[in-house]
Amino acid sequence: MNSLQPVRGTRDILPDEMRRHRVVIETARAVAARYGYHEMATPVFEFTEVFKRTLGETSDVVTKEMYTFAIGEGEQVTLRPEATAGVARALISGGLTQSLPLKVFYNGPMFRHERPQKGRYRQFHQIDVELLGVAEPLADVEIIALGADILAALGLGQHTTLELNTLGDPESRKAYRAALVEYFSAYRDELSDDSRDRLTRNPLRILDSKDKGDRQLIEHAPLFGDYLNQQSRDFFAGVLAGLDLLGIGYTLNDRLVRGLDYYTHTAFEFTTTALGAQGTVLAGGRYDGLVETMGGPSVPGIGWAAGVERLSLLLAEPPLPPRPIVVVPVGEAAQAAALKLTQDLRHAGFAVELGYSGNLKKRLQRANKMNARAALLFGEEELAAGSATLRDLDSGEQELVSLDRLAERLSRLA
Ligand code: ATP
Ligand code: MG
Repeated sequence: MNSLQPVRGTRDILPDEMRRHRVVIETARAVAARYGYHEMATPVFEFTEVFKRTLGETSDVVTKEMYTFAIGEGEQVTLRPEATAGVARALISGGLTQSLPLKVFYNGPMFRHERPQKGRYRQFHQIDVELLGVAEPLADVEIIALGADILAALGLGQHTTLELNTLGDPESRKAYRAALVEYFSAYRDELSDDSRDRLTRNPLRILDSKDKGDRQLIEHAPLFGDYLNQQSRDFFAGVLAGLDLLGIGYTLNDRLVRGLDYYTHTAFEFTTTALGAQGTVLAGGRYDGLVETMGGPSVPGIGWAAGVERLSLLLAEPPLPPRPIVVVPVGEAAQAAALKLTQDLRHAGFAVELGYSGNLKKRLQRANKMNARAALLFGEEELAAGSATLRDLDSGEQELVSLDRLAERLSRLA
């Protein structure tokens, strides 16, 4: 009976790791706010159609990775595998198309039924930004710069590389698709089962295959660059010029395709070599066709998502929890006053622990164990004097401090 284990591919995030997650999320949120991106949230589950339509019936996520269940009367819902579809749905159903551009920051759990391994889970977390309603390359530049800035703020600027490609406009994509079908059809029998299937349903996805045999064939496949029309070339040139102006380095990778159907023009990934096979930490692109595909008006969009687990694995120093002050009542009489003092100090903004039980020595040991900054010893003598004995746990020094001066004295502890 395994029912007391977390379900395969899911994990508990214990406090140490949660602090890392929070650094990632809070840093991203703060940087995004400087760019004018505001946080929003959509439900964790949506009607299955929302994802099927936007991710495409043939995408890996839709064919293999969705958690779907019935909610009665023939209605099916799916735990969200990503954030963009929900944001686009909210844009349409909430009438937000009246107030474009919409710039959002997003974070939360996502669900994909894939093979669990380090950095790859069935419930994982993403931060995500979306910019809807801007068709100009300037939007692509902004959204990439925002990603680069967040990685830099996390201290990961040196450890990640920006890879960049263009998928062109729909016309270019169509021409390229035809060239790919022609090329891969000649190697039909050598393709993996999945890719043979993609050949008729979505040949671009073959370029995304992780199969070894496929990868060899992909090396000699036609290049997207040769099938871009002038408009698509100009657009991409605009993006590159903006990045150059801002000094954001990139590597062009003409094999980079996004796994999802609605991407056009710019596609990008920030990758690292520090996480083994799970090297993509932040990925995104332009999705001008998405909102229309969902049944809304034609609204251009661009965005990216980053895996919080992968980013927190890369953080150098796990941030330490704040060092508390520990209140240690000595003797029965001081208990109630200690409880009150603890609460007063918390209200004054300090992180305060109350030594619950045990003798003085035990309680001080516990205070040291939780890396407390100071202990406030509080016995009958102190009680009578309206004071507490402040013990600096770093220097070992002690002094008697009257209660009305206590907050001020504590705030001077480094
Ligand atoms: P991959 O090729 O690694 O499967 P993907 O193309 O499916 O990635 P996206 O849909 O672009 O990934 O998601 C953006 C980011 O979310 C990824 O770059 C990664 O950091 C993270 N991510 C995606 N799937 C998982 C997962 N199962 N577990 C943990 N993080 C994930
Ligand atoms: Mg995937």
